[in-house]
Amino acid sequence: MNYHVDERGFYGEFGGAFIPEMLHGNIDKLRQEYLQHMEDPSFKKEFDALMKDYVGRPSPLYFAPRLSEKYGAKIYLKREDLNHTGAHKINNTIGQILLAKRLGKKRIIAETGAGQHGVATATVCALMGLRCIVYMGSVDIQRQAPNVARMRMLGAEVRPAESGSKTLKDATNEAIRDWINNPVETHYIIGSVVGPHPYPDMVARFQSVISEEMKWQLQNQEGRDYPDYIMACVGGGSNAAGAIYHYLNDERVKIILTEAAGKGIDTGESAATSILGSKGIIHGSKTLLMQTDDGQIIEPYSISAGLDYPGIGPMHAHLIDTKRAIVQYATDDEAIKAAFELSRIEGIIPALETAHSFASLEKMKFHKDDVVVINLSGRGDKDLATYIEYLNDFSQS
Ligand SMILES: *Cc1c(COP(=O)(O)O)cnc(C)c1O
Repeated sequence: MNYHVDERGFYGEFGGAFIPEMLHGNIDKLRQEYLQHMEDPSFKKEFDALMKDYVGRPSPLYFAPRLSEKYGAKIYLKREDLNHTGAHKINNTIGQILLAKRLGKKRIIAETGAGQHGVATATVCALMGLRCIVYMGSVDIQRQAPNVARMRMLGAEVRPAESGSKTLKDATNEAIRDWINNPVETHYIIGSVVGPHPYPDMVARFQSVISEEMKWQLQNQEGRDYPDYIMACVGGGSNAAGAIYHYLNDERVKIILTEAAGKGIDTGESAATSILGSKGIIHGSKTLLMQTDDGQIIEPYSISAGLDYPGIGPMHAHLIDTKRAIVQYATDDEAIKAAFELSRIEGIIPALETAHSFASLEKMKFHKDDVVVINLSGRGDKDLATYIEYLNDFSQS
């Protein structure tokens, strides 16, 4: 079985490029050129140098002794939280900005929900001196003031999306509209393994630096270059895609993806796309998404803004459909509890998104020699205001 993308841009029946006529020029050029640029030795050299000196890679693979003891396995944490800007997203934005330059683009657009992808995009635009416009729902602009300030400090223009629910999907629609109107000068940096082909594959390849490092780190630390389990949280799926990329076709490695169940799968306030979703087309690709019977997108909900997405990337839809990956669900409360646990037993405050993956540890049955890698996708500084509300619940006095 091959779990990578095929020549037509599909993962099994998922993926493809279902886009308006007006975008064909841009998408075709990207599709024809992305691999050629990415495989060019001078591109790789520039990418690797920035990964090392700007992002701070390789990110450590940390053996977590107290977590391991508690859950009865050898648990390692892949420390994407230590990257510049605090999460894995920078791996992708660095890759795409280098590509945009090679495609001769002068202007960058992006969509953002919580603002994390917007900040990562504004960061690399500042680094490269390119103009940056970030579309963001006006409701999200209100909710995520610190990230809006960061983007503006970095020199980006934040444009509010005022249509629909004024959140991520509306920001995405605005970004697509912008791209249609400005096809020549502009590159659209998508923030996860979603969107029309070649985006899911391109983003997965940029994030695959995570599992590339994991291989030699495990070889050094465990004497074998693969773990028994890789665990990651899934919004669109990019940190998970990077963590599993080099093991996709290696069935010795079990893949555990955790989605946000919000207040509970059956409460109507959830983002558990793989169980609540059905097949359809969102943002240009065929995948699983939360929709009504007549195809209207259902607004997702999660306490963590980064998992609050109504779809899932086509790679993951295929992994779930074929049972290559096992999906777990963590509610808001379970994620909060897991965030406090990791903080108190390893001294690491994770992002709320990442905490969902740690919440799945309780639901796993490991053997004591199992090697488990959890992708620690981001740090919790941005979530402090949320964590503060729970401090009394977890007080140790
Ligand atoms: C954005 C984000 C996610 C979710 O996005 P994916 O594309 O699924 O990885 C997860 N963790 C952190 C820390 C994020 O910022």
